[in-house]
Amino acid sequence: MTAELYVDVHFPRPPFGPFTYRLAAGPPPAPGCRLLVELGRRRAVSLAGRPASPPPSGVTAKDVQQTLDVEPLLPLPSWELLEYVARRYASSVGEATRWALPIPLDARRDDLLFLTEEFARGPALEGWEAEEAAAAAAVREAGWLGTRAAGPPEIIRGLVERGVLALEPYAARPPLDDVFAYASPEGEGPRGTRGRQLWEELAAGPQPLRRYYGEAKSRAALRRLLRSRHAALGLRTAPAPPPPEEPAPTLFAGGSRRSRVEEALGAVREGGAETVLLLAPEIHLVPAFQTWAADFWGEPFQSYSSEASPAARWEVFRRCRRGTVRRVVGTRSALFLPLPPATAVVVAEEAASAYKQWEGSPYYHARDVAFARASGAPLAMTAAAPSLEAYGAVASGEVALRHLPRAGGARPELTVVDMAGVVAAEGPVIFSAALIEELRAARRRRERALVIVNRRGYVPYIYCEVCGRALQCPACEVAFTYHRDEQTLRCHYCLRREPLPRRCPTCGKERLTGVGFGTEKLAAEVRLLFEEARIGRADSDALRTPLQVKTFWADFAAGKFDVVVGTQMALRALDDEKVTFVAVANADTALNIPDFRAAEYTFRMLTQLREPTPARRRLLLQTFHPDHYAVAAAVADDFEAFARRELEFRRRLRLPPYTRLINVVVAERKAAAARAAAEEVAARLADILGPEAEVGVPTPAPVARRRGYRRWQVLARVPPATIERAQAGEALAALVRRRGPLDVTVDVDPYDLF
Ligand SMILES: [Zn+2]
Ligand SMILES: [Zn+2]
Repeated sequence: MTAELYVDVHFPRPPFGPFTYRLAAGPPPAPGCRLLVELGRRRAVSLAGRPASPPPSGVTAKDVQQTLDVEPLLPLPSWELLEYVARRYASSVGEATRWALPIPLDARRDDLLFLTEEFARGPALEGWEAEEAAAAAAVREAGWLGTRAAGPPEIIRGLVERGVLALEPYAARPPLDDVFAYASPEGEGPRGTRGRQLWEELAAGPQPLRRYYGEAKSRAALRRLLRSRHAALGLRTAPAPPPPEEPAPTLFAGGSRRSRVEEALGAVREGGAETVLLLAPEIHLVPAFQTWAADFWGEPFQSYSSEASPAARWEVFRRCRRGTVRRVVGTRSALFLPLPPATAVVVAEEAASAYKQWEGSPYYHARDVAFARASGAPLAMTAAAPSLEAYGAVASGEVALRHLPRAGGARPELTVVDMAGVVAAEGPVIFSAALIEELRAARRRRERALVIVNRRGYVPYIYCEVCGRALQCPACEVAFTYHRDEQTLRCHYCLRREPLPRRCPTCGKERLTGVGFGTEKLAAEVRLLFEEARIGRADSDALRTPLQVKTFWADFAAGKFDVVVGTQMALRALDDEKVTFVAVANADTALNIPDFRAAEYTFRMLTQLREPTPARRRLLLQTFHPDHYAVAAAVADDFEAFARRELEFRRRLRLPPYTRLINVVVAERKAAAARAAAEEVAARLADILGPEAEVGVPTPAPVARRRGYRRWQVLARVPPATIERAQAGEALAALVRRRGPLDVTVDVDPYDLF
């Protein structure tokens, strides 16, 4: 009698799992194989995980009803990356598969079987069982066959294991480029001239099927050869490249966006890379990156993003799996493509916030996962101004930094307007006279203008209209978050709590007000000044759906707007040479936000605005703090000066990159329940993370109510090594699972604390 086998089973939707199931028969499926199992009262497609231990006595595990794949959908290296992401971001493998799979798991398509190269050349069938021989012959005759048509699953599995058949998980039809025609060396060869000629050509080496498909006569000749078994069809799988030498990751800073991408690609090529994954932070950058990369490498790059149809993404996914796609440009989900383990990774514009996955758990950061993805293969990053996380790795010697020479083109001519002086002379205004004059001049020249309000997120804070200061926590030098319910100011880093003062502590005036002005107000202001101007608004309120974003930028490209007003979403307008005037209405809104990255965001945005352009452009910056180190360093184009100050600040306050943050938000219907749950979470966190972690006292979240729920949060600060420890991530994930996925969210390395 054989011992009973158990396996972890993961679901791509709640309750995610893993759950233990029993295998009634057969060998255990490899991780990443699809399984049909019973979940509650329905049947569901799931993914096999690792072998599991038997459940405790008294608990009965359900049986796996059917193993749907012969070979896993996700090869082992991809599966291991998902396990890493789940662990590192306190999530589950089931949740992580949501971002990794190009199509739904239960898509009803059949697997396809092909002949392997050896078998296509015609091995002997003697000594085979009748069913095996029949199945192999059927595939051989047809060129490719669905598994259900080819024979019983156990027979097919045996043939795949013996290397007779190769399997392509559920696809409609293979692309002609990947299918090759082979000559069978048996017998005399065909008789007819045309057939003979073709057969000899194939005998010299496999030929792509596409060659013979264009012309009716050669297509017919090939069909005859296939029928008479003088030729066969098969797949060609590219051989895996040799593992490259252990190189140090390099970060390319400065230059232009294009020169950075080219230098990074050059570096990984020098490191011996043959397969390359180039990550772009946003979909709209993919086409340009694709062109630059292909020009530089001399070979095409395949694009991969969520904008493509599921069928197109699936196509790329399976061609990567087979090794016929070796170079990909894609957004963050491309990290999970089944490219070979030795694939080099280039993270372009690594500081872009779009690399943080924010749509659902796991809230992973693509730059950090790229390090795990590359694991020994060449890795390069680019940035106009590096993130402090990447720069911290430079400072500690883990990453090499290379500054690129300044790109061609001119820097925008910069004017800094000190708003303190403007308010003294003109009163609290949104636009200074200087800004209005520049806008007017641009309108006269019939050129386009861009007005930016530097605002992120919706965390409420209080600032003074006269001196522009936000009310700050004196200990943390980060703005207080304003809690409207209780009329208090709270620091979400050290948990200090203060009543809302009447007067500004800096200038003594009674002009304290909530948050900064938004894009809408700014657009209305522009409309008042220039009645006839066509104004476009680009922010997350005006453009909610991908379609709205696409339409907006199509309209912009078609010249339908004279002035674009927006948040960092509007920065895409910078790529247009017809934009000759750019104004930042209030650089301080970013400095004021209750977020320790406030200075970094400000520096980065100003640096981006100052990148050289082919067009002549003027840039105007309104600020209450021209002497703030982020503003001053950006104006002086001195990243090192900024980074030194900023790293010093982060070290002193034990903030990333010196520590890692974990933000846990609990939502409950009743405030008391939310508070109690948060207290329980805090106690559990202290247990899980150990004595070297600092677990904060639970506080109401900055956004304290959402959709009828009361939200409380716990913020923990831990040494970086703790996060990498496997047990910590698993225990955190268990914390979420125990309460159900809707009540608790765990965000490791959070970028927004609300
Ligand atoms: Zn003031
Ligand atoms: Zn504080």
